Amino acid sequence: MFESLLIANRGEIARRIIRTANGLGIRTIAVYSEADAGLPHVREASEAVEIGPAPARESYLSIPRLLDAAAKTGAAAVHPGYGFLSENAEFAEAVQAAGMAWVGAPPSAIRAMGLKDAAKALMQQAGVPVTPGYMGEDQSEARLAREANAIGYPVLIKAVAGGGGKGMRRVDDAADFAAALASCRREAASSFGDERVLIEKYILNPRHIEVQVFADSLGNAVHLFERDCSVQRRHQKIIEEAPAPGMDVATRQAICEAAVKAARTVDYIGAGTIEFIADASEGLRADRIWFMEMNTRLQVEHPVTEAITGDDLVLWQLKAAAGEPLPKTQEQIVMRGWAVEARLYAENPQTGYLPSTGVLQHLRLPTGARVDSGVEAGNEITSFYDPMIAKIIAHGRDRNAALDRLTRACGDIEIWPVKSNANLLCRIAGDTDFRAGAVDTGFLDRKGGELVAEEPEQAVIDAAATSLSRRSSPDPWAALTGFRIATEPDLRVNVVVGAKPYLGHINPTSAARAVAIGEETVLFDKGAAWLIGLPSASRVETADGGGDGAVLSPMPGLVTVVETSEGARVRKGDLLMTIEAMKMEHSLRAPFDGTVQGLRASVGISVSESQLMATVVKDEA
Ligand code: ADP
Ligand code: ADP
Ligand code: MG
Repeated sequence: MFESLLIANRGEIARRIIRTANGLGIRTIAVYSEADAGLPHVREASEAVEIGPAPARESYLSIPRLLDAAAKTGAAAVHPGYGFLSENAEFAEAVQAAGMAWVGAPPSAIRAMGLKDAAKALMQQAGVPVTPGYMGEDQSEARLAREANAIGYPVLIKAVAGGGGKGMRRVDDAADFAAALASCRREAASSFGDERVLIEKYILNPRHIEVQVFADSLGNAVHLFERDCSVQRRHQKIIEEAPAPGMDVATRQAICEAAVKAARTVDYIGAGTIEFIADASEGLRADRIWFMEMNTRLQVEHPVTEAITGDDLVLWQLKAAAGEPLPKTQEQIVMRGWAVEARLYAENPQTGYLPSTGVLQHLRLPTGARVDSGVEAGNEITSFYDPMIAKIIAHGRDRNAALDRLTRACGDIEIWPVKSNANLLCRIAGDTDFRAGAVDTGFLDRKGGELVAEEPEQAVIDAAATSLSRRSSPDPWAALTGFRIATEPDLRVNVVVGAKPYLGHINPTSAARAVAIGEETVLFDKGAAWLIGLPSASRVETADGGGDGAVLSPMPGLVTVVETSEGARVRKGDLLMTIEAMKMEHSLRAPFDGTVQGLRASVGISVSESQLMATVVKDEA
């Protein structure tokens, strides 16, 4: 085994790799950008090297800087984690050329699977069923539109170099094709430096099923069963589980064998995942599951596979990279129980999952489940990197047991003032349809409204009333004078929860926990965080924000398109500009008919959250 290992990544996955490396007595070398100096992975590694400023291009994505750090510290091997350079063949080759071991896929396999069109063609040749569609050279709009017609709507336009849910557009109608193509190409060019696309049949009732594969340099290749990652937002997974609900033995065998075949076709070594899309309109059937892409790296959701097999996949990766045989044969790999992972993100489900940045002043992660996290209280979620806070992984003897555990764990999460999806995760884990296995990738879009809490439940309001009354010592009731409507036993007070006033009942036996954080008092309930207080004129805001025509940037990001000009007449819903940040493109539209004034946007400028971009002045009635 290697004497030392440089981890070319950050946060959660860096810590995960350090854990396994420590167990093997390997000296670990962390790298970090200026923005990440205070993160736990920097402290937990044997050594740490600063590699540059916050933007990933100048640090985690800079091959020269990473090689420099490796040379300086005498690293014997490099683990790329996931994201960043993990699927970059040039980096893999540069690491090997510098005499180090690469704990990843062979560069040739990364190349073969790197572009979705080429990968599909290769798999088709090998006899693996692929999603029907067009993956040709001719990229003219006319040809692509013709192919889309031939495939039949709805179709999905996909960047061939895409990843992370980016560079994808579903199109339901030929009339929308041209605009969707343009927007997809723009995103593909800016994110992947390659605007080529392929067109796929959009599978209805789609389920995302993937198979974990592993291979060593001695010619052994195995699978470690499947995972279901169908609960997604913006084509990105937030809940993953193993095994897949409703998967019968024959279907499992068919797709797992197809996956091993795919890995063998590219002479794979190490950890890889074959992603399939399934038409689940009539349950899972082997003849309705198609190859989508291969991810030539360890995957974010690998812990659910670790939980059901009892294996350490990072250990397997290190062994494969060191030329050792796989620790188990196919027959020795068995599945025990059920595991579910929830991705805890710094984002706001109430605003279409916009990322939320800032310092994690208060952070309490659950016990009673495996928690893989890259941050601690006091760390900052910035707009430079993926906004994942932690992964919560629950394992149980069956699916319900695992989901019960996950519901409890997500319910215990406390985060402030950064917004998170903890309450949504908690609700999904407890949802009856989800529990019944009635899941496809449209699950969240369909159920989102029901699962995203906009208003506090009465129990939360009562808990707020109770906690605030307890706080007002020495005489608990003095502070409430004027708000006290009745006398015991039914004491009711006006309280502000979130931004609105409610009437709450004081319950002296309540176990509610309100936490004082700085100047604020926050009540945590099932993963949700509610700012609470007694009413004062300034605290209470009207429910519908503004209506004043101010067009604000919803998040920090980069202006990529400006569709309007100073003084332009616009109609309600017209696109004014597009802002891109992290993994999404966000359109700002006119709130009503009017005239654009004070336009402060031009392509390429960066903007901060809530920055005034323009004002739409309403037409006189
Ligand atoms: P997976 O298919 O492994 O679940 P995704 O398809 O969601 O992963 O995307 C790749 C993963 O790489 C992301 O989940 C994310 O955690 C990681 N990643 C992407 N961009 C970054 C980044 N800027 N910083 C750190 N990790 C990133
Ligand atoms: P990425 O590289 O971004 O992970 P994928 O090709 O793996 O891109 O697709 C990501 C997600 O998009 C899938 O998990 C699935 O939800 C959805 N998707 C992809 N292809 C199709 C399709 N043909 N029909 C329906 N949904 C699809
Ligand atoms: Mg994918």
